[in-house]
Amino acid sequence: MKEQFLERGWTVVEETEEADCYIINTCTVTNLADRKSRQFIRRAKKVSPNAVVAVTGCYSQVKPEELWDMPEVDVITGNGDKPHLIDLVEDCLKDRHRIRKVLEYGELKDYTDRGIILSMEGRTRAYIKIEEGCNRFCAYCLIPFARGRVRSRDPEEIVEEARALIEKGFKEIVLTGINTALYGTEEGFKEKYGVKEDGIESIIRMIDSLPGDFRIRLSSLEPTVVNAEYVGRLMKYPKLCPHLHLSIQSGSDKIIRAMNRHYSRQDYLDIVKVLREYDPGYGITTDIIVGFPGETEEDFEDSLRMVDEAGFLKVHVFKYSKRKGTKAESMKDQVRGEVKNFRSDRLMEAGDIAAGEFFAKERGKVRTVLFEEVLKNGLVTGYTENYIRVYADASENLLNEFVKVRLEEAYEDGMKGTVIPER
Ligand code: SF4
Repeated sequence: MKEQFLERGWTVVEETEEADCYIINTCTVTNLADRKSRQFIRRAKKVSPNAVVAVTGCYSQVKPEELWDMPEVDVITGNGDKPHLIDLVEDCLKDRHRIRKVLEYGELKDYTDRGIILSMEGRTRAYIKIEEGCNRFCAYCLIPFARGRVRSRDPEEIVEEARALIEKGFKEIVLTGINTALYGTEEGFKEKYGVKEDGIESIIRMIDSLPGDFRIRLSSLEPTVVNAEYVGRLMKYPKLCPHLHLSIQSGSDKIIRAMNRHYSRQDYLDIVKVLREYDPGYGITTDIIVGFPGETEEDFEDSLRMVDEAGFLKVHVFKYSKRKGTKAESMKDQVRGEVKNFRSDRLMEAGDIAAGEFFAKERGKVRTVLFEEVLKNGLVTGYTENYIRVYADASENLLNEFVKVRLEEAYEDGMKGTVIPER
C-alpha cells in the first residue's frame, strides 16, 4: 500500500503527524483489535480534520457497517481492494464523497496482493507474502471470513521478488502469509506451476538455491497442516533458519479438538522432537489461548505442562475473545474474565521461565547474529538464526552483517553476547 502511494508521488509521514490521508489497516483478531482500530481512526481525524481517512483490512472486511457508521471514515475497503486503494483515495479527494467498496466473502478468490515490494529501506529483513487466505475455520477464528479461501502466489513471482531483495542487500527473507503451511495446497497447483514438492517446500527449495549470502525464515507453520515427517523434510535446506513459530493454542487434547484443530499434543511433541534432534537449540515459538469455552483448570494445566515439555523460546499468550459469527461464540461454558486474566498471568510466567531455561542452555554457544539496530544505550541488537534476540557492545559497522557471537547471559528479552572477531 505504501508503494502505491509513493509511486503516485505521495510522501509517507509518521502516523502522529498531520497528513492529507491516513490509511488504517485494521485487524479483527480480538475485540481489543477492533477497539484499537476505532481509536486510530478517531485520532487520525483529530490530528488532521480535513484528511481522507481510508480504512482497510480484516475489520472492514468482516464488519464494514460498524465502520461505515463512524463519521470519521471517508473510504472503506476490505482485503480484496487493497491493490487499488490509491485510486479510491484519489477519487474521494476530487469531490470528497464517501466511498464504500468491500468485496463479499465469495468474491475473495484471486491473489490480488501481488506488488513486488522492494523499498524496505534500512532493514535487514525483508518480508515476502506468498499466500492469502485460510480454509481451516478454527472455532474461535474470524480470519477465514476476513481473508477468504487459500490463494497461493505464483512461485516464479515469489522467487523473482526474493532474488531482487537479495540483490538489494537484504540478508534475511521471511516468508509470510495468512496460513503459510497451506501454500500451494489448492487443487491443481502443482500441475499448473510444474512444482514437485508439497506445499511450502517448493518455495523454500527455490529460494534456498538462489545465489547470495542470506538466510530464510518462515513466519509460522500450523500443526493442523504439517506433521513431524513434513517438518523433518525441511531440515535439508541449509539456508532455512532453525526457528519455527508453531501455534499450539492449547495443551489439552479436548480443547484442541473443540477448537476444530486437527492434531494432538503428542503430534505436536513429535514435531518438537524432530526439530530438536536437528538442533537442540532449535527455537520454537508459539501462541496459546487461555479461557477457550469449556477450558477447565485441568485443561489449563495441560497448557502449562506443554510450555515446560516443549521448551518454548517464546510463548504469546492470548485471552480467548468471543468473535461474532464463529463456532465458539455460541459454545457453552464460556470462561469468566477474571479466570482468563489469572490464567493468562500464570501462563506468561511459565513462558518466561521456559525462555530463561532456553537461554541457560544456549549460554556459551556461538551463534550467527544478523545485527539490525544500534540502540540509544550504545548496544547493537539483532537475532540469531534460532531467533534469540542478542545484545552486544559493538560499533555500527556490524549492521546488516552476519556476525559470530558467543552467547553469555540472559538480558532483558534476549541474551547478551560477545562478538567474535573475524580472523
Ligand atoms: S489455521 Fe490460523 S488463520 Fe486459519 S482458522 Fe485456524 S487460527 Fe485462523
